[in-house]
Amino acid sequence: MSDAVPPDRAFVCTACDHRWYYTRQRCPACGAADADTYELGTGSVLATTTVHATPPGVRQPNPLAIVAFEHVSLVAQLADETIETGDAVTFGDEAVLRDGDEPIEGPRLVRSE
Ligand SMILES: [Zn+2]
Repeated sequence: MSDAVPPDRAFVCTACDHRWYYTRQRCPACGAADADTYELGTGSVLATTTVHATPPGVRQPNPLAIVAFEHVSLVAQLADETIETGDAVTFGDEAVLRDGDEPIEGPRLVRSE
């Protein structure tokens, strides 16, 4: 497994087909060390919230969502506050998710076309 997996990809265990999102050294279901990745594609927004008191360098307000993709769910920043529960979303262009001495860049979720 690589540490540089793009954020629009999830993992699938080559031994047992279990799927997960966040980087792990081993399959959480069977413990195997080998996994492939696959593109998440389009997900469905399960819930949204907007954070108004954010850490330094994070935009304010900061709309977030829990999104269900096929087999995995994750929390991510939304492109804007117009995205609602039930909307179909996908990963958009790279943005500065947190600015500062060591900026964190990644895609925000955008409404799927
Ligand atoms: Zn497994």
